[in-house]
Amino acid sequence: MATSSPSTSAQPIDALIVGAGFAGMYMLHKLRGLGLNAAVVESGSGVGGTWYWNRYPGARVDIQSLEYSFGFDEELEKEWRWSERYAPQPELLRYAEHVADRFDLKRDIRFNTRVTAAHWDDAAQVWTVQTEKGPAVRCRHLILATGCLSIPTDVTFPGIDTFKGDVYRTSRWPHEGVDFSGKRVGIIGTGSSAIQSIPIIAGQAEHLTVFQRTPNYSMPAHNGPIPDADFEAWSKDPRGYRAASRDTVGGFQNEASDAMATETAPEEIRAELERRWAWGGFRILGAYADTSIDPQANRIIQEFVAEKIREQVKDPAVADLLTPKDHPFGTKRPCVDTGYYATFNRPNVSLVDLRAEPLAGFNAEGIKTTAREYAFDAVVLATGFDAMTGAIERIDLRGRGGRQIKDHWAEGPRTYLGLMVAGFPNLFTITGPGSPSVLTNMINSIEQHVEWVADCLVALKQRQQTSIEASEEAEAAWCRHSAEAVTPSLLPQANSWYMGANVPGKPRMFMPYAGGLNKYTEICRQVAAKDYEGFMIRQGERVLSESRVFTSLPEPGEIPEKLAPIIMERLMAAGLLPAE
Ligand SMILES: Cc1cc2nc3c(=O)[nH]c(=O)nc-3n(C[C@H](O)[C@H](O)[C@H](O)COP(=O)(O)OP(=O)(O)OC[C@H]3O[C@@H](n4cnc5c(N)ncnc54)[C@H](O)[C@@H]3O)c2cc1C
Repeated sequence: MATSSPSTSAQPIDALIVGAGFAGMYMLHKLRGLGLNAAVVESGSGVGGTWYWNRYPGARVDIQSLEYSFGFDEELEKEWRWSERYAPQPELLRYAEHVADRFDLKRDIRFNTRVTAAHWDDAAQVWTVQTEKGPAVRCRHLILATGCLSIPTDVTFPGIDTFKGDVYRTSRWPHEGVDFSGKRVGIIGTGSSAIQSIPIIAGQAEHLTVFQRTPNYSMPAHNGPIPDADFEAWSKDPRGYRAASRDTVGGFQNEASDAMATETAPEEIRAELERRWAWGGFRILGAYADTSIDPQANRIIQEFVAEKIREQVKDPAVADLLTPKDHPFGTKRPCVDTGYYATFNRPNVSLVDLRAEPLAGFNAEGIKTTAREYAFDAVVLATGFDAMTGAIERIDLRGRGGRQIKDHWAEGPRTYLGLMVAGFPNLFTITGPGSPSVLTNMINSIEQHVEWVADCLVALKQRQQTSIEASEEAEAAWCRHSAEAVTPSLLPQANSWYMGANVPGKPRMFMPYAGGLNKYTEICRQVAAKDYEGFMIRQGERVLSESRVFTSLPEPGEIPEKLAPIIMERLMAAGLLPAE
C-alpha cells in the first residue's frame, strides 16, 4: 500500500475498510472519489474476495453475469463483455482484477494482512485496528467489507490428520488447481459448491464418492454464451435494466408473478414451471407468490422438482436420496447446476447417505462411516461457511466501554438496518446481518450499502461531526421489523445457514433481512432523508442530534386475501401480533 498507508501516526485516516472483495473495492473507490482518505486491509494476496478464494472446479456465479456486475460506472460497464450467462470463477476474478487496475485500487490495499482486533477509543473518537503484522491503524470509521461467506466452517473430523491422502477445501482451493485424474476421490457436502464441483471432479476422477447429509434443490443453469437477444436487450438500456433489477425483492429479474399456485389449474402450473425450468437458474422462484408462504403451494414446486430429479437420475433409489424431504423449496439457498443430477448416472460415481450411515471420521486410508470404510487418494471438504457473522466475530471487536461484539450478539446478530450496531460508533458493515445481502444479487446489495455509507460519511464530514451510532431503540425496532418480515414465510422452517444451523452452538436466528431489496433500499433512503433517523450523532463530546426512534417503515403492502390468515397466525404465534 503506497500513498495513504495507514499507520499509528497522530492523524487517523478517514476510513479503514476490511476486505478487498467487490464490497471493499467499491467502497475504496467511492470514498476516494469523495476526497476521503481511505485504505483497505485484506488477508488474501489479491482482490476479488469470494472469487479469489473459491477456485474449486466448476465455481461460477448463479445470478446472470449481466446482472452480477458493477453498475456504478458506465465506462466500466461498456468495456466488459461477459463470455457466458453465468461467468466462471476465473472470469469473475479477471473482472475483479480489471476493476482494481482500472481504478488504481491496489496502491491503497494492504494484502496478506488479517485484521485481528479493533477497539473503539471513545475519548479520541477513533478506532484502533490491529493486524497480524505491521503497525496498528487509527481510523475515524471502520468499514467491515469482510463478506457474508468468507469464513469456512470450523468442521473437523476425528482422525483427519492421520489421512495419508490430500485434503482440499472448496473455499480455500489451491491456486495452481488440482488434477484428480486416476484418483479415488471423496467429497463431503452437497451444498452449492459441491453441486458445482461434483460433475467436473467426476469427469476426472477414477471414482468419486459423494457423502451427503442433506440433499438440496438444484435447478439447471442452461449455461452457455449470452444469447444475442439478451445482450441486445441489455445493451439498449443497461441503466434501465439495472434499475429494474434493483427494484425487485432479490435484486435480480426473475419475472416475479403475483399469481397463486393454489388458485391455478394444474395444467397451467405445469406449463409455467416447465417454461421457467427450461429458462433455467432462479427463474422458477418467481413463478407463484404463495409458494414462499403457503406449504400447500410450496409442495407443488417440491413435487415438480422431485419429478425433474427422477427424470435425470436413472436409479430410482439414488434419485430418491437426492430429493430433499426435510425443508420446503426455497428455504435453503437453492443451487444452480450444470449436469449435477445426471452425474449420478456415471459408473464412477456413488452416493453415500450420511443419515443412514453417519460419518465416524477418517483413518489413514480414507473415510469411515458407522457402516464401512472408504479408501481415497483425496478428499474434498465442501462443508460451507460460518455465514454472515463468522468474519465479523473472528475480529476482537470492542465498542463503547469495551463491549465485545460477541457479547452483543450472544443471542444472534443485532443491527440497525444491517449497517450499524448500537454501542459500536462509526462501525459499518457492508451487507451485514439484518440486511438483504445473501437473499439477493449481492452486487446490487453491495452497491446500495456502499453508496449509503459514503453519503453518510460525507454528511458527517461536511458538518464536522465525529461519530454516528445506532440507538438501542432503533436497533431493537429493526430487529423486530426483520422478524416480522421473515416470520410469515417458510424460510425459518429449514435448518439453513441463513438460520446459523450449520454451525454448532451458533444462535438460531434468521440473519438476512427478508423484506426485499426494493423495500429495504427505500427504508434506508428515508432514514438518511430524516437526518439519519435512529442514529445519535456527536461532535467530540457534544451530542448534536439524538434520534432514538425508527419510523421509516413503508406502508405495508396489501396482503392477498388467501394468505392473510396464514400470515396472521404465524405472526401471532411468534408474539409479533397481539392475540385477538
Ligand atoms: C462459492 C460462492 C458462490 C457465490 N455465488 C454468488 C452468486 O451467484 N450470486 C451472488 O449474489 N452472490 C454469490 N456469492 C456471495 C458472494 O460472497 C458475493 O456475491 C460477493 O462476492 C461478496 O463480496 P464481498 O466483498 O462482500 O465479500 P467477499 O467477496 O467474501 O470478500 C471479503 C474479503 O474480506 C476478507 N476478510 C475477511 N475477514 C478479514 C479480516 N479479518 N482481515 C482481512 N481481510 C478479511 C476476505 O479475505 C475476503 O477477501 C457466492 C459466494 C460463494 C462463497
